Amino acid sequence: MAGISGGEKEGADSIVISGGYEDDEDYGDEVIYTGHGGNDPRTGKQIADQELKEGNLALALSRNEGLPVRVVRGPDPRSPYAPAKGYRYDGLYFVESYWQEKGRSGFNVCRFHLFREPTTPVPPATREAPGGPEPRESVEVQRIVRTTAICRRVKEWYGYRCQVCRVVLTTAVGPYAEGAHIRPLGSPHDGPDHESNLLCLCPNHHVLFDQGAIVVEEDLSDRVTGAQVGKLLIDPRHTLHAEHLGYHRERFGRSQPS
Ligand SMILES: [Zn+2]
Repeated sequence: MAGISGGEKEGADSIVISGGYEDDEDYGDEVIYTGHGGNDPRTGKQIADQELKEGNLALALSRNEGLPVRVVRGPDPRSPYAPAKGYRYDGLYFVESYWQEKGRSGFNVCRFHLFREPTTPVPPATREAPGGPEPRESVEVQRIVRTTAICRRVKEWYGYRCQVCRVVLTTAVGPYAEGAHIRPLGSPHDGPDHESNLLCLCPNHHVLFDQGAIVVEEDLSDRVTGAQVGKLLIDPRHTLHAEHLGYHRERFGRSQPS
């Protein structure tokens, strides 16, 4: 049974968390969900790479459109939030981000980070929950965290100029740019809130970067959806950490056409 229901054009309307994938992580109000495909229906074992298509593409679209997804939990011996038997509707969740990585099996899997919608109750734990990621108030908190002093410093180095397209957006309250973390903050990526892990980008390039449509090569040339090659604007005060750029390329740049 496919765990994701929905369409590539409409987004996902629901997912079922039922222990079908060894890489799923359920923390109750936060779920790191594995996409579908590439597993042996008899054993559940991953035998091929997953691709960003069908249900996986639908769930990625839900993220872009900000559409809530219904979460249903089914039996899962590993999850303290699974119902003792049968299936339980657990309310609405939002997809905050998606990426691809090698799963425990060694094959590529799609990963979706979901957060409980604030009015959705926390699911009951049937037994003691393992230590999960640091609890967070909500996804909005992350947006606020991004406007830190470090963020502002990096933006000032560039005069709020986008490092990809060199555009400065001028608003009534002054220039506008966004600090984009290369390796995302917080679990499971645990990127540092440090200048070496930040880019100054316009909102368009921030979105493209967050979804891996822009990656930065080791020589700091930037590759936009696999084609357009430019050079990242770099201020002499700004040292980027190659490891963070590599992490971003690996996790977020995989599904792009080359
Ligand atoms: Zn830009």
